Amino acid sequence: MAGLNPPTPLIISTATSSIHPSFVGAFSGLTVTLLSSDNISFPISPESLTRTSGYFRMLLTLPQGTPAVTGIQRECIPLTETSDILASLLSMISGIALACPPIHEHGFAERLLKAAEKYEMPMPIAFVRSLLSPSFDTSAIRLYGIACRMNWEAEARGAATRTLGLDLMAPENLAELGRLDTPHLLKLLSLHNRRRKAVAEALDDKTLYSANERWNRCTRDINVQACDVVVDHPKWLAFKLAWSREPWRFLSVGEAETGGEKPAGQRIPELEALLDDRCGRCNRNLYSRTATLDNLRQMVQKLPKTIEVTCSANYTSDNVVTNHLYVVSVIDGAAVARSK
Ligand SMILES: [Zn+2]
Repeated sequence: MAGLNPPTPLIISTATSSIHPSFVGAFSGLTVTLLSSDNISFPISPESLTRTSGYFRMLLTLPQGTPAVTGIQRECIPLTETSDILASLLSMISGIALACPPIHEHGFAERLLKAAEKYEMPMPIAFVRSLLSPSFDTSAIRLYGIACRMNWEAEARGAATRTLGLDLMAPENLAELGRLDTPHLLKLLSLHNRRRKAVAEALDDKTLYSANERWNRCTRDINVQACDVVVDHPKWLAFKLAWSREPWRFLSVGEAETGGEKPAGQRIPELEALLDDRCGRCNRNLYSRTATLDNLRQMVQKLPKTIEVTCSANYTSDNVVTNHLYVVSVIDGAAVARSK
């Protein structure tokens, strides 16, 4: 833990361990040997450790002559991390060339960050952070969770935005949702819920969408007389219902130029059906493609796109009822919320 005195290390013999091949002879002079939980040893110069790790700086600068320190210099320090994690950490802080660590692999980045935090190593943390950009090819929910736990606000907000194209409650996403800390999970669910409500409210606007006026009549003139047939707008109702139920399918509407077609080729059938809908009597288009898409785009652009930084305390759940204004950390929510 950062800021805590390191425990007196257990000193054990290296006789039964194997040295990691990248660390064989890598350092001349005095070395300290770290031992992974899977019995791989890593001889490394104490200078590399003390320069880059608050934990080892404190451990290795204990007064000389202390039995523990004397033992450290002769034997090795067992650590709880596996050799893949230690190899990545120690290569980053010492400049030993290794293949890029598999940050994208299941759980590896989190284990690496956890170890870097434990040993107070800012360099590996910065390295992993640079790789975990919002565009990094990994699960948006996983990236969101990592960024939240590390207090990386920009990354957390970017990853939250990336989740908008997901059905959070789909079976394939539940496991990752379950790994989020509760305040972070609530913020993400709140974002999706606020968008859903905002869409429903905006699509019900009768001034923007005349289709919300039930039983209005077709106004097209036919031979001087109006068509005047009653229009019930079933396609409009289907469109609204679909967006409310599965909002992640409609993410591209804000960017769509024609027909709500996604750049990747995915289509929104309900939108296409709407824009193609015609009067049953005179066959005129019931909806202006240009005006409808313009209205929808403007609506989408106003939707919340990421988790909130400053908010009223009752925005997320029913069990928060105070009316005070709270300043809430993007990532630590309940832990740091304070009344203004
Ligand atoms: Zn008509």
